[in-house]
Amino acid sequence: AKRNVLITGCSSGIGLALAVKMARDEQKRSKVYATMRDLAKRAALEEAAGGRLGTALEVKQLDVCDEQSIKTCVNSVPDRRIDVLVSNAGKGFIGPIECQTIDEMKTVMDTNFFGLVRLLKEILPDMKKRKSGHIVIINSVMGIQGILFNDVYAASKFAVEGFCESLAIQALKFKLQLSLIEPGPVVTEFERKALEDGMKMDLSAADKEIAEMFTNIYLKNYKRIFQSLRQSAEDVAEHTVKVILAENPPFRYQTDTLYTPMTTLKYADPNGDQPIDIFYKMVFHHDSLQCKS
Ligand code: NAD
Repeated sequence: AKRNVLITGCSSGIGLALAVKMARDEQKRSKVYATMRDLAKRAALEEAAGGRLGTALEVKQLDVCDEQSIKTCVNSVPDRRIDVLVSNAGKGFIGPIECQTIDEMKTVMDTNFFGLVRLLKEILPDMKKRKSGHIVIINSVMGIQGILFNDVYAASKFAVEGFCESLAIQALKFKLQLSLIEPGPVVTEFERKALEDGMKMDLSAADKEIAEMFTNIYLKNYKRIFQSLRQSAEDVAEHTVKVILAENPPFRYQTDTLYTPMTTLKYADPNGDQPIDIFYKMVFHHDSLQCKS
């Protein structure tokens, strides 16, 4: 029988690429429920899905911040059977905390962390009853190691890690699988939106040193990293398909080997000083950045 795959945040980026890749499977192993918050943004997905639309892929409304929308969507899937849940919807957020409101921070937590919790409250009980299911979360290397001016975003992704590590123990008891996909930088709308918001951020609440650090070091570096060290959404989708189809999928999977030294260092130093020291040097003593600490 075909596996039902429900993916969130499919109007762009990794979600769109993954939905299309799963639907195009030549062996036709999956039925994809590609969901998005705003159906008015469905054109790009529909165009990319082409002939698979309506058969291997259906588009549905789902807002991860709205419990009722999740329930309505899950109820519309035959027998509510979701074999693979891909929690992908997410939101980037950069800047000095002095310039971010608590409400903005809550929106990031609400989307990136509580979005996953809401999905699982609706879907996990059915998976447990059936004793089958795979929960795949598009998290981030920033769920393992924090980075300058990503304080709240990293916190939201760390929350997902702690939640999933705890849940994975219970999942094992019910023969369910849980996988965290940890991409590094990926060129998507995410990057464009975060950078755009960062550029127009009102920095008047920050002191001069912090404002300069954000504009002259961080934003410049951000552009450089995304221009040179990025992956494409298709590439991340390709890795995610492998994890979905694997017989014994891993709990953590990094899509970009460039970032494994960063996470390895984190695990290698129980005191936690080394990664912080390395990031400090990278940011403040990087020759090309021409900056004094
Ligand atoms: P993207 O902005 O193209 O995609 C994110 C999608 O989530 C968008 O379609 C957006 O509309 C949707 N979304 C936001 N709030 C939602 C809500 N309340 N309900 C439903 N959908 C909602 O960016 P992307 O890079 O494809 O991001 C996908 C995931 O990958 C995110 O969880 C992100 O944190 C993660 N990620 C991205 C990068 C990167 O550099 N782009 C790196 C690591 C991890």
